[in-house]
Amino acid sequence: MEAETESDAHPVTVTEAVILPVPVPDPITQPVPVGPKPCPVVCPACKATVITKVSRESTMKTHFMSLLICTMACGLLCLWIPYCMNSCRNADHYCPNCGAFLGTYKR
Ligand SMILES: [Zn+2]
Repeated sequence: MEAETESDAHPVTVTEAVILPVPVPDPITQPVPVGPKPCPVVCPACKATVITKVSRESTMKTHFMSLLICTMACGLLCLWIPYCMNSCRNADHYCPNCGAFLGTYKR
């Protein structure tokens, strides 16, 4: 007798029409595509449609541009120019409603 191996196996009940849960991406972890300027987004934290509040920060590029322009123009008066150029700075977007960080626009 060799064919008595599966005698103790339970029959598997097959359920028809199994609905698999659709993977929903976590909106909190998804970076919000933002531009250099305040833009309308749906805040993942408070679900409100808001115009993002932009906080710009100086980057290494800003300092480099400052140094470069200063060197080229040979004038300390030009040192402040890159700090006024928004294109040289990162733009951090925050929700004005709840203050949640939404994303950074990097140059
Ligand atoms: Zn919010």
